Amino acid sequence: MSNQKLKNTNLKGKKVLIRVDFNVPMQDGIITDDNRIVQALPTIEFVVNQGGRAIIFSHLGRIKTEEDKLSNSLKPVSIRLAELMGKDVRFVPETRGEILETAIKELKDGDMLMIENTRFEDLKGKKESTNDSELGAYWASLGDVFINDAFGTAHRSHASNVGIASNIKTSFPGFLLEKEIKFIGGAVDNPKRPFVAILGGAKVSDKIPVISNLLKTADKVIIGGGMAYTFLKAQGFDVGQSLCEEEMLDLAKELLERGKDKIVLPIDFLFTDEFKDKKPLHVGPITAIKKGEMSLDIGPETLKLFENILKTAKTIVWNGPMGVFEMENYRSGTIGVCEIIANVVDAITIVGGGDSAAAAIQFGFQDKFTHISTGGGASLEYLEGKALPGIECLNK
Ligand code: ADP
Ligand code: MG
Repeated sequence: MSNQKLKNTNLKGKKVLIRVDFNVPMQDGIITDDNRIVQALPTIEFVVNQGGRAIIFSHLGRIKTEEDKLSNSLKPVSIRLAELMGKDVRFVPETRGEILETAIKELKDGDMLMIENTRFEDLKGKKESTNDSELGAYWASLGDVFINDAFGTAHRSHASNVGIASNIKTSFPGFLLEKEIKFIGGAVDNPKRPFVAILGGAKVSDKIPVISNLLKTADKVIIGGGMAYTFLKAQGFDVGQSLCEEEMLDLAKELLERGKDKIVLPIDFLFTDEFKDKKPLHVGPITAIKKGEMSLDIGPETLKLFENILKTAKTIVWNGPMGVFEMENYRSGTIGVCEIIANVVDAITIVGGGDSAAAAIQFGFQDKFTHISTGGGASLEYLEGKALPGIECLNK
C-alpha cells in the first residue's frame, strides 16, 4: 500500500467517501482539542484540490440513548473543519435517506459534505458498530471511491470502514493512515536497531500482548508505570500498596524469564502513603518502602538508567506513562522520559497509546517525536502485531 496510488488517481468529479476520526474531546458543544481534525486535513485538502467531491464520515462518542445524540452531533465539528479549510462544509444532520442523497447530488467539484455521526446508526440496533451489511452497502453506494483515514478506529470492524470498503471497487488509505502504518508498522516489522520499547501505564493485563510481541522484536523492553510493581512483586519484592495485579504474577514471572536479557525495571521510586497529589514522603529503592506506602512514580536514578539504554537507540517506541502524571507531584518520571527521548539524536521516536500521547502533548513535546499516534487502542493493537481490519479491508 502506498499513497502514491492515491496521488495517481484522478478524483475530479468523483464522489469520494472519506472516513476520518473526528472523535474530538468536547465540552458543552465546544471542541477542546482539534488535533484529530488538523491531522486529517492533508487527505481532505488533497481530495478537494483534485476536484473530488468529499463526503466525510466520522463517529463521535458512544451513542446508547436518544439523549446521547444531543451532545454528540458532528455539527460543531463540521464548523471547525470549515474554519480550518477556509471553505464551506455542508453538514447533513442525517446518516441516510433522501435529504442526504439530494445533498450529495448537489455537490460540485471540490465541495465538502459531512454526514451526521455514524454511531447514530447504533440506536437502530448497533448497525455501525456491528458492521451491519446493509448499512455498509448503502454508504458505499453513495460514492465512487473510498478513502479510510481513521486510524483511531482501524482496530474495529465497523460499517463506516470495513463495511464501505468491502462494498466499493476502489479504496485507499488516507495520508494519516499511511503515516501510522509507516511508523508503527515499520517499527514493529522492520526497525532500525537498536530498537528499544518503553512501556508503562496502569495495568499489566492491558499490556501483556504488547510486551509479549515486543519481546520478540525489540532489543530492550523497559517497563515503568503502574505495571512495573507486578513485575517487582513477581521478583519477590514487597511493593506495599502500589498498584499490583496478583492474578498476573505468574504471567509476569514467565515474561521475566522469557525476557531476562531484555526487560529493564525501575530501580528507585517516589513513595507516599495516599493516592493523593501531595509531595512524596521519600525516594529510594523498592526495599525502602514502608508499611502502608505505595509508589506513584519512578525516581531520578531510574531515569539515568533508562537514559543510558535509550540514548543509543535508533528506534524507540513509547507506550504508557511512567507514573500518575495527572498529579503534579508524580509526573517527573513521564516528563523525564519525554525529555530523554526528545534528546536522542538520529532515532525514529514513536509514541503510541492514548494517555502517553496526551501526556507528550500536554508537556510540550508535540514536535519532539518523529510520530505521535492518533490512535490509542488502535496503536496498542498494532504494536501487539495484530492485523487491523480498517487497514486490511483496503485495496492493496
Ligand atoms: P496509555 O493510554 O498510554 O496506553 P494506560 O491507559 O495504560 O496508558 O495508563 C495510563 C494510566 O496509568 C494513567 O492514568 C496513570 O495515572 C496510570 N499510572 C501510571 N503509573 C501509575 C502508578 N505508579 N500507580 C497508579 N497508576 C499509574
Ligand atoms: Mg489509556
